[in-house]
Amino acid sequence: MDLSNTHVLIVGAGLGGSLLACDLAKHGARVTLCERRSDPRAAGFIGGRSINLAMGTRGLTALKRVGLDEAVLKDAVKMPGRLMHSVTGELTFQGYSKDGKHTNYSVSRSQLNITLLEAADTYDHVTLRFDCRCVDVDFDEPSAVFERSDGWHETIKADIIVGADGAFSAVRDQMMRTSGFNYSQDYLSHGYKELHIPNLAELRELGAEIKDDTNAPFAMEKHALHIWPRGSSMMIALPNADGTFTCTLFWPMEGKDSFAEVDALSDDGAKAFFRKHYGDAVPVMPTLIEDYRNNPTSRLVTIRCEPWNMGTNTVLIGDAAHAVVPFYGQGMQASFEDCRILMEMLEQHNGDFARVIPAFAEARKPNGDAIADLAIENFVEMRDKVGHKSFLYKKKFDKFLARTIPQWETLYDMVSFSNIPYAEAKKRAKTQWFVVELIIGVIFVIVSMALVAVLRSVF
Ligand code: FAD
Repeated sequence: MDLSNTHVLIVGAGLGGSLLACDLAKHGARVTLCERRSDPRAAGFIGGRSINLAMGTRGLTALKRVGLDEAVLKDAVKMPGRLMHSVTGELTFQGYSKDGKHTNYSVSRSQLNITLLEAADTYDHVTLRFDCRCVDVDFDEPSAVFERSDGWHETIKADIIVGADGAFSAVRDQMMRTSGFNYSQDYLSHGYKELHIPNLAELRELGAEIKDDTNAPFAMEKHALHIWPRGSSMMIALPNADGTFTCTLFWPMEGKDSFAEVDALSDDGAKAFFRKHYGDAVPVMPTLIEDYRNNPTSRLVTIRCEPWNMGTNTVLIGDAAHAVVPFYGQGMQASFEDCRILMEMLEQHNGDFARVIPAFAEARKPNGDAIADLAIENFVEMRDKVGHKSFLYKKKFDKFLARTIPQWETLYDMVSFSNIPYAEAKKRAKTQWFVVELIIGVIFVIVSMALVAVLRSVF
């Protein structure tokens, strides 16, 4: 496929936009990539604390297309399962994949973005523009208007416009002004806040008492996504390559055990709250209260819209089309998958954007909806259900069936370690879970009846 006659304007040089720029450029397209923020490569984004993302098969498959999978994995930390921390500090490991062969990786968001931008910048026919905010789009021309805070503005014309400008997309905003465009946004009643666990060297410098250094330079098990499930709320921690962990609190905004409740406590009160609920983490979080007070509390939103295209020359990808809550670790991966599917469809139709754009939008929309639903369901599972024995038994049985029956895949495996379309994974998993509950129900009835028969014969 030769795209050298096509000029593609990508709005947003985040994760999806910069990956798509690489893939289009690889096929010869002239790409202009415009980003509202300043250049992260110059702004020293790297030096800051690492905010990390979980990445599995979907993300890696898309990266492989542009030859960046190995470069990204070089600094990634393997997370083959969840390590649950009970209130009393008891640890339970739950491997993710049915055969233990697959793993998620924890990758640094900033480093990933920089790697993609650097790769895009190696092509002469890619122009990167930073500090360049899209404020208007003309779908007929097609073109987009960009401006800077100093008053500079410019209209950029292109053959194709891709809105890769995230959950609060300016391209989508313009699409909303046209008739027949559907849009919804749903905020969770939970928000999130990031906290930090230093590595052992930093902990020692900060005067923390280290009783166990078996995971050095990490303060806890390195190869796991740590979860402190606490019913209506939870904390998670993902490892970073430098031995630190990035923790995220997912708490209700208001009410019991909420951000509002802890915000109102004194520092001692807040620390006591953490000791009560996350007791084993507190000793490795010496900057806990400072981080808690200084770091913002943000909201979580699911955004759905339809159609994802405007005619045959403008299309949305990633969060701009389908922002999902982060509980399946799939938002960025779904964005990457959009890029892969769009490119594969272009390859199938020899670069015919006019044919592919509407077809892509229609084919991908059910998958965007499916991962949005699955992400919310996984939130309930992570914060609550994984703390219940009956649920864990069902999960174990599901995994047992997956190991025994070749056609059986757990939902987690399908979502995280395959490229099965999300909508198909959701449908298959629903049927399988029904079978799991049915079998367990039948076993329960048989065992109860046998027990009653034994008791009758005894008495
Ligand atoms: P973004 O990465 O948001 O990029 C959009 C870009 O557009 C930004 O650079 C922005 O500055 C730019 N932009 C915005 N408006 C304009 C404008 N008007 N003009 C020009 N540029 C503009 N996903 C995973 O796969 N795994 C995870 O573990 C994971 N964890 C997460 C944890 C949290 C707490 C959250 C909130 C999200 C998480 N996600 C995760 C989701 C992931 O961050 C997003 O889905 C992903 O960043 C989407 O990529 P994108 O390129 O579509 O949008």
